[in-house]
Amino acid sequence: MPFTLSDLKENNSDLLNLLTQHLPDMLWVKDLNGIYIYANKTICDGLLMAKDTKEPIGKGDVFFALREREAHKDKPNWHTFGELCFNSDQVVIDNDKAMKFEEYGNVKGELMYLEVYKAPFYDKDGNTIGTVGAGRDITKLKKIQTDLEKSLKTLDKQREQLEYQANHDSLTSLPNRILFLDRLGQSIELAKIEKKNVAVFFIDLDNFKKINDSLGHNIGDKVLVEVSKKLKTKMRRSDTLSRLGGDEFCVILNNIDGVEDISDIIINIMNSLEEPLIIDKKTLYISMSIGISLYPNDGDDANTLFKNADAAMYRAKESGRNTYSFYDEEMSKKSLERVTLETAMREALKKDEFVVYYQPQMDARENKLVGMEALVRWQHPTLGLVPPNKFIPLAEDTGMIVPLDRIVMKQAITQLLKWYEDGLNPGKLALNLAVKQLEENDFIEFISSLINTNESISRYIELEITESQLMNNPDKSIATLQKLSDLGISIAIDDFGTGYSSLAYLRRLPINKLKIDKSFVDYMVVDPEDGAICKTIINLGNSLNLKVIAEGVEKKEQKEFLVENGCNFIQGYFYSRPIPASEMGELLSK
Ligand code: C2E
Ligand code: CA
Ligand code: CA
Repeated sequence: MPFTLSDLKENNSDLLNLLTQHLPDMLWVKDLNGIYIYANKTICDGLLMAKDTKEPIGKGDVFFALREREAHKDKPNWHTFGELCFNSDQVVIDNDKAMKFEEYGNVKGELMYLEVYKAPFYDKDGNTIGTVGAGRDITKLKKIQTDLEKSLKTLDKQREQLEYQANHDSLTSLPNRILFLDRLGQSIELAKIEKKNVAVFFIDLDNFKKINDSLGHNIGDKVLVEVSKKLKTKMRRSDTLSRLGGDEFCVILNNIDGVEDISDIIINIMNSLEEPLIIDKKTLYISMSIGISLYPNDGDDANTLFKNADAAMYRAKESGRNTYSFYDEEMSKKSLERVTLETAMREALKKDEFVVYYQPQMDARENKLVGMEALVRWQHPTLGLVPPNKFIPLAEDTGMIVPLDRIVMKQAITQLLKWYEDGLNPGKLALNLAVKQLEENDFIEFISSLINTNESISRYIELEITESQLMNNPDKSIATLQKLSDLGISIAIDDFGTGYSSLAYLRRLPINKLKIDKSFVDYMVVDPEDGAICKTIINLGNSLNLKVIAEGVEKKEQKEFLVENGCNFIQGYFYSRPIPASEMGELLSK
């Protein structure tokens, strides 16, 4: 064991040289300043470019690096080791433990990776007196490693591509049958947990064979691509559209609650091909037949649902193409009613088939008309006058309520202005309003445009919003209601007592009136509980400084009960049913 550095220098270098000269690894010993005390042949030849193993003694790494750089000034990256080696010596000394490094730099202009072990060593009193080190050229290993990584990456990419090809249709890039069935299986599992329905649409183009035969496969392919693009735009984010081959497409619809959810999508899909396709300057009319099956109603595994949707599609073909059919006939009927109604309503909106009726609102003490509620009816060409409960729920589900309410508002406000211009006194006009309307960005603009012909008219306009709709999203509605209120329009809460009003919200909302729901009025005289509810609402209105009106008043006793308890505003068949504008005009003239 060496006890001092000079022991090592004087006694052991020759012995060490003898032992290490044939080893491929670089070996060395340095003092605390990084000065070589010993360096074997491998490091002398491979890194330091020293003449022999004697030359490094008394010199450091930087010396040799500088000498190399000086000799090859024209090659700026000839030798970049030197400082690197010196720095890691210091790290080992500072940490006072053996450490492993991976260092790389240029030697003779070529990149070299070194795996280096360095450790401090001590004298007999335990003081650090230098470092020993061993280094191995791992450049070749590194190269193999990076090459390997590169090929693995290429392989990964190829595998991904193969997987994609195995799961997708090459013409349309849509998922193919394999992926479709896999996804359907997943959808079913999810639906089981979430207690939802999954719908499978089997779509087959009508007469596609004819196109292929008469116009050629090239055009046929373009048709398929166009159709797939059109269908894709009708899908929701969570739906899967796939191509099974030929002219067959399949759709998975997740998160379905009932037939209502599906009907809209059917209409959307069928409408997507309403316009003809223009392909290579040819105008092609394409239609499709759709078969629909539902989990869990028509099967609880992917294959069964798929088979049943296919069977339903054949039924759609049989019933004349360009149509759809559910596997379950009962569903077909239900959905057909809805789809028929929805389609008819869209037409009716375009054709202006909606008319407004007016029902008087009276001050019962003075027996005087103080206003009226506008109530929409559908003047259907064959069905006659359709009451709103037949179509308002559908309009609310589909969003058609927004244009519908605007038609009613426009008609009724125009009529109101006319009555005032004619010198009549219709009082306040109450308009029913779906909360959806309040969420429309341009609603305030719309209503302003209706009243700006006559600014003062706004104080004769009242909007009725049902309690349940309002309480479902009060925060969202507050700002819009406030703007309406600022315009001078008053706000009434309809069907009051049936929702769950929070008193806190009642105070914060800019409302002027509560409308006691008909269901309480119906039995208030005979059922003490309903009577008590009516009285409570009247008192609540009084204490919050709100007007109170009762709707659905049919009998004298009901009117008297209300008046006795402080509610003088009354609407109901007792005074009048809703009547058309002409009749209302006559009534006002009297
Ligand atoms: P609502 O706002 O609660 O309207 C009151 C309903 O009660 C009206 O039915 C009215 O004709 C009926 N009614 C009034 N007095 C009596 C009575 O004494 N006895 C009985 N049995 N019924 C009476 P209508 O016109 O069928 O309207 C039904 C619902 O449709 C309305 O309920 C309202 O929620 C909705 N609605 C009507 N027109 C519109 C509209 O333009 N827009 C919106 N969003 N909803 C509307
Ligand atoms: Ca109403
Ligand atoms: Ca009501």
